[in-house]
Amino acid sequence: MTSHLHSLTEFVSSVVPRLNFTTEALPDNLRPYHDLLFAYMDIIDGMWTPQSEPIVPEDLFSALQGVTGGAKYEIGVQQDAEEVLSDLINSLNDGFNAMVPTIPSDSFVNLFKVHFINQNKCTVCSSIVPHRESSIILWLSLFKSSRIVSLEELLRLSYTSEQVIEDVACDSCHVRHNAVSQTIIVDPLPAFLLIGLKRFEWSKETTCRRKVSTKVSIPSNLSLTTNGLYELSGLILHHGTRMYSGHYTAQFFNDKSWINANDDQLEILPNIVEQQSQDAYIIAYKRVY
Ligand SMILES: [Zn+2]
Repeated sequence: MTSHLHSLTEFVSSVVPRLNFTTEALPDNLRPYHDLLFAYMDIIDGMWTPQSEPIVPEDLFSALQGVTGGAKYEIGVQQDAEEVLSDLINSLNDGFNAMVPTIPSDSFVNLFKVHFINQNKCTVCSSIVPHRESSIILWLSLFKSSRIVSLEELLRLSYTSEQVIEDVACDSCHVRHNAVSQTIIVDPLPAFLLIGLKRFEWSKETTCRRKVSTKVSIPSNLSLTTNGLYELSGLILHHGTRMYSGHYTAQFFNDKSWINANDDQLEILPNIVEQQSQDAYIIAYKRVY
């Protein structure tokens, strides 16, 4: 098993609530979803029950492969943690939609979905064209820097600041001009906020994605808008310099303390007030109010 499988399941189990459901007579086309949901529940139950043996998420990932198809999730194939996390959340959501008609459609994915409005203002006719978008991971641009950059600063740069986009076709005056673009996070805010740092930039010289190792300070409490206060609950860290190699570990908060998970090695961490990390890749917050 590659390291990200361990890290991701430890991480997901720490941020996602256990949902209950029952199954009756099952048509064949729902069998893969059934297997995925049960494998997922087994992981959640196992992780929060004291026991001596570490849990290997083999069943979960063979079930995920059964739903997504192909050979993506075979043992020994390295994937990007973000891709696996998105596949897992979307597949579980499809499973809950298909298997649990008693809960509203998309209940699972909506736990994570962050909504934003992207608006381009034409610099000639001043018309504003808003686009409503949503994503299960809030991606933040990252830049190379020798100083420590705060997560709030990166949030402002990506989701409040105005940026000039060159040569955009204007829907109103029909002329190509520069536009001023701004993306703003809007309600409803998700129960669980997943923030992704764009650590991997394309390098022409090496024709692969290289890592931006800027140190980012990650606060234990984060205000997303004036409405939403979030509490840090987990991190996925990528160790190494390239996207499709390296090693993933996870840190997450259980009832009492912070735990570092490195494959099947778990260790208790001292209480973390503010993390500073050059390896933090995906950061999870739980909404407090
Ligand atoms: Zn215009």
